[in-house]
Amino acid sequence: MNDTLFGKIIRREIPATIVYEDDEVLGFKDIAPQAPVHVLFVPKGEAIATLDDVRPDQGPLIGKLALAAADYARREGFAQDGYRVVMNCREDAGQTVFHIHLHLLAGAPLGHFGTP
Ligand code: AMP
Repeated sequence: MNDTLFGKIIRREIPATIVYEDDEVLGFKDIAPQAPVHVLFVPKGEAIATLDDVRPDQGPLIGKLALAAADYARREGFAQDGYRVVMNCREDAGQTVFHIHLHLLAGAPLGHFGTP
């Protein structure tokens, strides 16, 4: 269970810069940031590989990832400037870690979504 890279971070078996934690969600800095602020939010409980694997009864967890990101943005003072949240699902989206996670990107104008 949770035998993924992010499971190891949740269990503190490998290092990460943890910037957010509540009962159900862990937030840590992305090791290869794509924006001045790039934080990954992951559920601490049962491992789910992708958004496509979320059962209906696990739906509230997805909301908790989003609310954790919004909470972090307010706390860090960039909520008013704005930010982007992204969840990649499988190969065509470029998902590389198959442990569901929400990217939070901020800290500079990010351009229109999809603009090269
Ligand atoms: P995705 O491509 O949506 O699966 O996102 C996976 C993200 O995990 C990428 O942005 C990676 O840079 C990031 N990542 C990979 N290994 C680590 C690590 N050890 N600590 C923090 N972030 C990582």
